[in-house]
Amino acid sequence: MKWVSYLNPVPYPRDGEDIDTLIIHADAAMYKSKKSGRGRYFFFASLNTISLEKFELEQRMPTAINDKEFVLYYQPKLRLEDYRVVGLEALIRWQHPDHHLIYPADFIEIAEETGLIVDLDAWVLETACRQMTQWAADGLNPVPISINVSPIELKDRAYSHRFLKVLERYGLSTESIEIEITENTSIEDREMVISNLETLFSKGVKITLDDFGKGFSNLDHIRSLPITSLKIDRSFIKDIFNSENECPIVTSTISLAQKLEMTVVAEGIETHGQLINLKVAGCDEGQGYFFSRPVSEKKIREFIMSPIRGI
Ligand code: C2E
Ligand code: MG
Ligand code: MG
Repeated sequence: MKWVSYLNPVPYPRDGEDIDTLIIHADAAMYKSKKSGRGRYFFFASLNTISLEKFELEQRMPTAINDKEFVLYYQPKLRLEDYRVVGLEALIRWQHPDHHLIYPADFIEIAEETGLIVDLDAWVLETACRQMTQWAADGLNPVPISINVSPIELKDRAYSHRFLKVLERYGLSTESIEIEITENTSIEDREMVISNLETLFSKGVKITLDDFGKGFSNLDHIRSLPITSLKIDRSFIKDIFNSENECPIVTSTISLAQKLEMTVVAEGIETHGQLINLKVAGCDEGQGYFFSRPVSEKKIREFIMSPIRGI
């Protein structure tokens, strides 16, 4: 076989030592080229490792769902008044056979870009429902699971219907599964997003506005969304050291939530000091490494069996 040479690239053996590897890498270069616009070309060697990894992950993602490579971890959410576990947040992980555990920061964006997020989030909902029924069948008294829903999902007219159908199929009440959305969720296709949220809200599904404070919501915007809780972004919690007054965003979010009769949750609590200051400021619920990191299904059972935590 004769290789076409531009400027001097000799693909073999630099870009792969066998035909299969060369074809995969040529495909990666073509993919990069297509994404960069028309009439362009790329050599595999010029791709940076990030885009290469991205390419590999993207290629594998559809089969990874069928091959059961994704897994849900759970992080407990505690009521600060009595340190009772009142919910579990499901956080997705990818057990890729060639890598260690891959975290959502490395694949959710790819899934959103390619549209695979729809399959992924459907898998999350299905798995959370199955888990919930399994815990109940094992005689446990499970608390609600909250799942993170991509903005892309909520722009789909059929989302709320699909969500409710899955719960119905598992015989679960609408209080069993809660959803978390982010502030930028309703920027595009606002009417569709709000219509989906309103349908879910009217059926009793609790909705949390996640990472609150990071986006650009104003009071009117929050009021227009059917939400039950505000979850303060962890970047604000880490600024609390000695007093709750150190972070005005935290104190003002708490009073805003109280005025709007919403529950306020702090994420990313890592120290005892942060916890105490949040309690003093009137924060209702909290999550963070101080209580527990996200853990496997096996480990979270302990929190379901002993929901009151000694601090
Ligand atoms: P999130 O929903 O805001 O989740 C909180 C993130 O903060 C989680 O990261 C969690 O592991 C981490 N975290 C919790 N407590 C602490 C703490 O005390 N300190 C620090 N430094 N970090 C803490 P994770 O699991 O890597 O998830 C990142 C984001 O990926 C999530 O942010 C969520 O937006 C997204 N995500 C996770 N699972 C899913 C999913 O199933 N579907 C979709 N669409 N997005 C997901
Ligand atoms: Mg969340
Ligand atoms: Mg968050």
